[in-house]
Amino acid sequence: MKTEVAPGIEVKSSKIDGKGCFAAARFEKGRKIAEYVGEKISRHEVARRLKNRRRIHISGIDSYWAIDGRCGGNGTQFINHSCEPNCYSKVIHGHILFFALRDIEPGEEITLDYGESYHSDRKRCSCGAASCRGRINA
Ligand SMILES: [Zn+2]
Repeated sequence: MKTEVAPGIEVKSSKIDGKGCFAAARFEKGRKIAEYVGEKISRHEVARRLKNRRRIHISGIDSYWAIDGRCGGNGTQFINHSCEPNCYSKVIHGHILFFALRDIEPGEEITLDYGESYHSDRKRCSCGAASCRGRINA
């Protein structure tokens, strides 16, 4: 199954890490950017997948369910972490949604503070922000 990239975003190579998700349109502060879509998996499946993958495209919905954007993702699975992000995510009725934290201009990479992620606490951050905390997990 292949899903189209969500309207208003595009996937390109990123200075932060691998591929990134970029704004192809202007998103005003507070505006919804896109939904994190993909395969809905349980925490048992999350644990299994984390064991044998180097790149993780899994985002949690709650303590049991998560979405793996590697299958059926719409481009938002490539949103990289930054310690000075321009977007944030919110879970609403079981859907993971991204919103603009400030005005985002076309061409800007869309970034998110992962906070507590499925990444290892040892995973180093290379976001390049002045306030970079040095690690991905908060
Ligand atoms: Zn950082």
